[in-house]
Amino acid sequence: MIELKNVSKVYPNGVIGLDNMNLTIEKGEFVAIVGLSGAGKSTLLRAMNRLIDISDGDIMINRRSITSASGKELRMMRRDIGMIFQNFNLVKRSTVLRNVLSGRVAHNHTFRTLFNLFPQKDVDLALQSLERVNILEKAYTRSSQLSGGQQQRVSIARALAQEAKMILADEPTASLDPVTTKQVMDDLKKINTEDQVTVVINLHFVDLAREYATRIIGLRDGKVVFDGPAQRATDEVFKDIYGRPLKEDELLGKEVG
Ligand code: ADP
Repeated sequence: MIELKNVSKVYPNGVIGLDNMNLTIEKGEFVAIVGLSGAGKSTLLRAMNRLIDISDGDIMINRRSITSASGKELRMMRRDIGMIFQNFNLVKRSTVLRNVLSGRVAHNHTFRTLFNLFPQKDVDLALQSLERVNILEKAYTRSSQLSGGQQQRVSIARALAQEAKMILADEPTASLDPVTTKQVMDDLKKINTEDQVTVVINLHFVDLAREYATRIIGLRDGKVVFDGPAQRATDEVFKDIYGRPLKEDELLGKEVG
């Protein structure tokens, strides 16, 4: 489903974000990307839906190159990819429902969506999506009035309404408390198992990665230094990935799980 072939990213200032990376992620996997800050996790995720252009190599989504796609083809490819960010990326002054409906924009004519004219079936789908993440009662609330955890669930509902085939989540729980973190991770796991949506998630907490992911990929200096089933990612393995023993706060997931 996602394939990286000899992918490198060198930023204009010469910093290497990704260093000749090869990786294949299959449909339905729940992959956690771990590594120290600066290891290249965010660069990797952003390269996958071409929020950033890579310097070398090729990235294939469902056997089509997103690296060379442009215009309509790129838009169509991105329609299958839901993005979830640490800061939620919602339009705060808009209602929850309007934010979820924005997941339908790529499925409709721009003219209609510009004037908020979504077909009833899209509104129904948006409401169902909110129900699946248990915040249907907030549909007509302004997004700015929600807690962080609720806002993150709205962004998950947006990806659901988008009918994304894969979700890329960049540190989605970094600004949430442990209880809310668990709810958000449970939502992602539910979508993954019930809808076979592929999930690739950058995670700071080691135990969250172990608890939720089926596969863990460890990065260091833009390279893959571990790739295997979550059960094999022992404390020793993490010591290797991080280049040092784990710190207390990196094990927060223990309290959560
Ligand atoms: P992570 O998500 O694991 O913290 P990043 O992908 O953000 O790592 O960063 C990988 C490397 O690329 C780091 O050395 C970082 O400083 C650098 N980097 C990230 N974004 C930029 C940028 N826009 N310009 C220059 N260097 C960058």
